[in-house]
Amino acid sequence: MLDEYTHQPRIAYFSMEIALRNEIPTYSGGLGVLAGDTLRSATDLDLPLVAVSLVSRAGYFRQEIDAHGRQVEHPAMWDPRDWARPLNAKIAVTIEGRAVWIGAWLYEHESHLGGRQPVLLLDTDLDENLAEDREITHYLYGGDDVYRFKQEIVLGVGGARLLRALDFEILQYHMNEGHSALLGLELLRRHEYPPENVRPGESPYDLPRVRELCNFTTHTPVEAGHDRFSYDLVQRVLNASIDLAAIKRLAGEDKLNMTRLALNLSEYVNGVAKRHAEVSNRMFPGYRVHAITNGVHPFTWTSEPFRKLYDHHLPSWCHEPEQLVRADCCLSEAVIQEAHQQAKLALIERVRARAGASLDPGLPILGFARRMTAYKRPDLLFTDLERLQAIARKHPFQIVLAGKAHPHDEGGKRLIEQLHALMRQLEGVVPIAFLPDYDMDNARALVAGADVWLNTPLRPYEASGTSGMKAAFNGVPSLSILDGWWIEGCIEGVTGWAIGNDTGADDGDAAALYDKLEQVVLPLYYDPDRGGWARVMKGAISKSASYFNSSRMMRRYAAEAYLR
Ligand SMILES: *Cc1c(COP(=O)(O)O)cnc(C)c1O
Repeated sequence: MLDEYTHQPRIAYFSMEIALRNEIPTYSGGLGVLAGDTLRSATDLDLPLVAVSLVSRAGYFRQEIDAHGRQVEHPAMWDPRDWARPLNAKIAVTIEGRAVWIGAWLYEHESHLGGRQPVLLLDTDLDENLAEDREITHYLYGGDDVYRFKQEIVLGVGGARLLRALDFEILQYHMNEGHSALLGLELLRRHEYPPENVRPGESPYDLPRVRELCNFTTHTPVEAGHDRFSYDLVQRVLNASIDLAAIKRLAGEDKLNMTRLALNLSEYVNGVAKRHAEVSNRMFPGYRVHAITNGVHPFTWTSEPFRKLYDHHLPSWCHEPEQLVRADCCLSEAVIQEAHQQAKLALIERVRARAGASLDPGLPILGFARRMTAYKRPDLLFTDLERLQAIARKHPFQIVLAGKAHPHDEGGKRLIEQLHALMRQLEGVVPIAFLPDYDMDNARALVAGADVWLNTPLRPYEASGTSGMKAAFNGVPSLSILDGWWIEGCIEGVTGWAIGNDTGADDGDAAALYDKLEQVVLPLYYDPDRGGWARVMKGAISKSASYFNSSRMMRRYAAEAYLR
C-alpha cells in the first residue's frame, strides 16, 4: 500500500496538528492550517514529503455559543475510517514503564494539480493498550501536562519509529513547533557511537549528524506557547535510554524545554516572519533563527468566484502564484468587484443560517476572526464605544467576528462573553454578528466575504498571522497593527492600511485604529468613484497574494533548509 511512497527519500514533517480538510478536526488554528498548507504546496510542487501527526479522534472541539454569549465546547468526534486507511504496522514506545502500542492511519492528500502525498495519523486506540493509553491520541491539546507529554512521546518517538517500521527513507526531519522535539532523542539513540569509541566525559551521541538531519520552525514569542516539563514528570513518564544528564544539556537544566531541545537538535531553525525571527534571535541568544515568512495555499483559500477569475485570466496561478503580480493590469475593476460581491453574499447567507443575524450587502463588513486570546485583542475595536458609534453614524459599517478560545483559557472565554455583551450594547448602531465554530470552511467564507480584514494583536506577539494572506487571495485588504507578516506585506494605501507604527507604545493603538477607519478606510469605501477601492483590492492580490503563499514558502524551505 505504501510502495508508491517509500521508493524515494522523503522529508518527514512532524506536527501535533494538521488541517487536512474541514471534515477532519485534527487542528485548532493557525499552526495546523500552516501544516496543512505545507503539505498541500509540497504536493503541488512534487516535493516528496510524509506528514506525521496524531489521529485526534475527538478533535479539538466544536464551539457553540449559549444564550448568555458563552462558549460551550463539544467533542468533535470523527471516524478515521471515513477518510483514511489503517496501516498494518505497529510499534511500541515505553510510557510509565509499560509498552504503549502505536498504529497509524494513512490519509492521502491529492492535489488538484495531480500528485499525492501520505499523511500518517498516529493512533494508540488499540486493543493491546490499557484504557488510559488508548486515549492518548484522542484529544488535541486536551488534558494536563502528563497527558500532553505522553502525546509528545507518541508523536516524536512513536512517529520516528513508525516511519522506520514502514520502510520510509527520510532525507530530512522537520519539526513544526517544539511538540515533536522528542523525535530528536530517538535519532540520537540511532546515532550512538560504540562504547569502546567513547572516551570518558565525551558525548556518546553523534550530535552533529542528528543536527544535520533536523529542521525546526518556532511559531510564537508567547511564553505559554513553549512546552516545559518538570524532570520529575519526565523521569516518571519517559523511559529514555538516553541518560538524563545528556537530556538536560540539550533541553535545559531545571525543566525539559521542548523549544530548547528542538533548537539544540536542529541545524536549520526558522521563525515565521522577519520580525518574528529577530524576536526569536533575542529570545534564544546563541542560535541562528532564519526567516522564511509563512504563506497560504492558493487554491485552498481562494473563493470560487476568484478561482474562476484567475483560471480565466491567469491560468497557471495555482502552480505559480507569482503570476498574480499581473492581477493589477489584467483584471478589470468591474470583474473584481463582481467576484467579491458574490463572496460577500455567500458570507451573509452563512451568517444568516448559522448566527441568525442579517447583514446588509450594501454596507462594508469588517471581518475579525482569530483565536480568542488576550494578545490578539479582539476588544481593541471596542475600546471607546462613543467614538465607534460616532464613526458608524458618519460611515455605516458592520462587523463579523469569529474565534474559539482554548477550553483552559479563561481570559479568552471571557473575551467571547464580553464581545457578545458589546454586540447587544451596539445594536441598532453597529450591526455585529458572531459566527460560531471558526473552522476551515468558516474561515474561507469570512476572508473572502469581508470588505476589510482587521487584525489588532499586541506587538510583537503575532509571530506571522496568516488569515490576512488568505484575505489577499480574495482581493480583501487588511487593516492591521504592524506585526508579523504585515510589517512585510503592508504598503500603505496600496495593499491595505497600517494601524499605528511598529515602534511606539501600544496605548495609542485604539485611537490610531479609529483615525484610520474614520479618515481613510471608510471614506475610500464610500467614495462615489469606486475605482480607488478597487485599486486597493487589486493591490492586495498583485502585491500580497503573489508573495505570501505557501508555494514560495515551500520552495524556500526546499532550497534553504532541506537541501542545505
Ligand atoms: C488561517 C486560520 C487561522 C490562523 O489565522 P491567524 O491570522 O494566524 O490568526 C486560525 N484558524 C483558522 C480556522 C484558520 O483558517
